[in-house]
Amino acid sequence: MKKIGVLTSGGDSPGMNPAIRAVVRKAIFEGLEVYGISQGYKGLIEGNIQKLEVGSVGDIIQRGGTMLQSARCEEFKTEEGQDKGIEQLKKHGIEALVVIGGDGSYQGAIKLTKKGFPCIGIPGTIDNDIPGTDYTLGFNTALHTVIDAIDRIRDTASSHERTFIIEVMGRDAGDIALWSGLAGGAETILIPEADESFDDIIARLHQGNERGKKHSIIVVAEGVMSGNELAEKLKEKSGVETRVTVLGHIQRGGSPSAFDRVLGSRFGGYAVDLLLQGRGGRAVGIQKNELVDYDILEVLGKEHHIDMNMYKLSKELSI
Ligand code: ADP
Repeated sequence: MKKIGVLTSGGDSPGMNPAIRAVVRKAIFEGLEVYGISQGYKGLIEGNIQKLEVGSVGDIIQRGGTMLQSARCEEFKTEEGQDKGIEQLKKHGIEALVVIGGDGSYQGAIKLTKKGFPCIGIPGTIDNDIPGTDYTLGFNTALHTVIDAIDRIRDTASSHERTFIIEVMGRDAGDIALWSGLAGGAETILIPEADESFDDIIARLHQGNERGKKHSIIVVAEGVMSGNELAEKLKEKSGVETRVTVLGHIQRGGSPSAFDRVLGSRFGGYAVDLLLQGRGGRAVGIQKNELVDYDILEVLGKEHHIDMNMYKLSKELSI
């Protein structure tokens, strides 16, 4: 193995830059050449490929987003698109590719691996929804952003004795809602993995009012329903007035937390180690603070599971 490539794809996440930096520097340290592919699979098809040096990744460890830029690319979902990508990689003499991204990006990496081009997947998404890893890159930073917002909203909520709804990201996975709701002391946390009746939500609001609570915070994952829809339904069913905050894309931005910088560095270094051992077609992860790797094809059959004990605890603590 002499030349490797690295790209970021799909939704960006804070921590992608530390991971790119680690892939580049570790590879150069080990005597490899590294090529950066800009704009994910779109850049791959178009041959947007540059050699990266040690200095190319200087001053990025503290930056959110991705210096390689990300993109979505429908063409890459076709065999034709994938063949074009492989052609470009071969043209540059690149023998393996590190893909940093979410589950969609993993599907692309799986397709390349199945076609005989070895990829290593690094889980880069704020959603924490990749199976086989306790944490994805960017989840921790996103939590800090959401908690910061909840704390601010709590200040105004208690001054005005209001109920606030905070809509967070998470179409299929409720991790951001659960962790931020628990850390932010939310009264109600709504996640796609669990059903919660309106009667229960309303009963909890009344219960809080009765014991003199000045405010109430509901965190809802976007996959359950939008914050505005929830507000309308609550008003319709109980007359409760709420204020809605949709955090949206601010959850994706910002300087990566210390945790995500360390995690990105560890994932990046580990990905290069795997390639040096000739072990392509792997996905990396962290389980119980140990770096792990597994066949990237297994991602297809595995499911991400949220910690339901934590969900149960969040209910017990919000009495
Ligand atoms: P994320 O990686 O954040 O989940 P997407 O789901 O948008 O983001 O996927 C990112 C890109 O990965 C897509 O634009 C596409 O180029 C590629 N991709 C997604 N699904 C597949 C697939 N089934 N086969 C090949 N490539 C795919």
